[in-house]
Formats: sequence, structure tokens, C-alpha cells
Amino acid sequence: MIEVSELDVGYGGVPAVKGASLSVRKGEIVALLGANGAGKSTLLRAIAGLVPKAHGVVRLADTDITESHAADIARLGLALVPESRHLFGPMTVIENLELGAFSWLGFRGSAQMRGDLDAIMALFPKLADRRSQVAATLSGGEQQMLAIGRALMARPAVILMDEPSIGLAPMIVREIFRVIVQLREMGRTILLVEQNARMALGIADRAYVLERGVVTLQGPAAELRSMERVRELYLGG
Ligand code: ATP
Repeated sequence: MIEVSELDVGYGGVPAVKGASLSVRKGEIVALLGANGAGKSTLLRAIAGLVPKAHGVVRLADTDITESHAADIARLGLALVPESRHLFGPMTVIENLELGAFSWLGFRGSAQMRGDLDAIMALFPKLADRRSQVAATLSGGEQQMLAIGRALMARPAVILMDEPSIGLAPMIVREIFRVIVQLREMGRTILLVEQNARMALGIADRAYVLERGVVTLQGPAAELRSMERVRELYLGG
């Protein structure tokens, strides 16, 4: 579903991602691990069309999206859940979710999205209890659930998630990861950037390690879990 080949991305001529190649097959969870500043968010943002690519090719299913605009990439079925969530703070949970459907529904009215809303509420019952609350007053965990829910409202085939566990209590992290696994069972394809390597390798099918913008390790998640270098650097020895 995603094929990234020899991608270079930089900021003002300073490289952040260097010659990165990776792929995500339909129905897989693929984890992208790496230290702070390794270039993980940059790689996700480049796939989503939010930062320009200096070199390389990105394909989404059968389409070359290297030069495509972010809005067109979203319409092709790719959604990004950004690290900073970017919710609409003064708007309610339901309003944030409704906006997620805009890419396919436009201004055509909300009756058609009722089933989608029910499905999100079933995935995240906590959001159902808070449907009329404004996003800015939600807890960190609820905000993360809403950010994922809003991405799902776009009916994406592929979801890029940037550090969904960041700053959350272990119980909430487990809940978020439970949903990520459920999304795979529902046929979604997921590229997951995570600092919590233990959790990510626990649910991923395959994984890549990014070090200073370069993909240095890759393979089945179980294989990476047993690698000395991964254990030392990302799993706490
Ligand atoms: P973290 O886990 O801390 O979020 P990361 O692996 O996601 O890190 P990036 O955020 O992609 O890493 O950053 C990669 C490099 O690009 C870093 O050196 C960072 O300072 C730089 N960088 C990121 N965004 C910008 C920007 N908008 N302008 C200039 N440099 C940037």
C-alpha cells in the first residue's frame, strides 16, 4: 500500500531523511523506530505530502504520489494522525469527528456519516460519553482517541500514526494499542512511529529503525526484538 524508495527530505538544505526506502503491505502494522530527531516525523509528513521531497519516489497503492498535494493524498485514502494531534480546540468531539469526513462528504450533510460516528464511538466508548465536550478540555488520552477517530472518519485505507502513546498513562496506552490492533483486523494498513519500542514491536508485523535519517535495520518485528542493537538502544537492554 505504501512504497517509499530512496527518499531524501531536508529543511533549508539540511538533510533530515537520507535515501530511506520502506514498504507497508495491505493489512500490516509496520513500526518505525528511532531516537529523538532521527527523522521519523519528517518521513511520515513527506509521505502525507506535508513537506517537499528532495529526491525519491512515494507510491500509495498503484498511484505515484511523490508530487501530489496533501489534500489529494488524503482523498486517495491516506490519513495522518499527527504527534501534536491538531484538534480543533473550541469545537466539540462530534464536530471534530464530522470535520474528519469532509474529504469524502464535503458539504453534503451529515446523515451519511452516522454509521461512521457509531463505529468510532464503539471503538472508543470514552468519546461517546464526551460527545458534546469541547476538544480543548479533554484529557490527553481522550484527545489522542479523538485524533485517531477523526482520521478514521476520512475512511482511510492507510493510516500514519505519529507517536500515539506520547505523554499518556500506561493504561491509556494499552487502550490505544488495542484499537490499533483492531484496526488491522478491520483491514486497515498502519505505519506507526513510536518511541515506545517495546509496545510497538509487540503489535507490529514488521519494523524499521531510522538513525540520523537513514534506515539502518529492518525485518519482522519478532526478529528486531531479539537483535542486540535494538535491545540495547530501544528496549532498555
Ligand atoms: P522526535 O521523536 O523527537 O519527534 P523525529 O525522529 O520525529 O524526532 P523529526 O521531527 O523528523 O525527527 O526531525 C528530524 C530532524 O529534522 C531534526 O534534526 C529536526 O531538528 C529537523 N526538523 C524537523 N522539522 C523541522 C522544521 N520544520 N524546520 C527545520 N528543521 C526541522
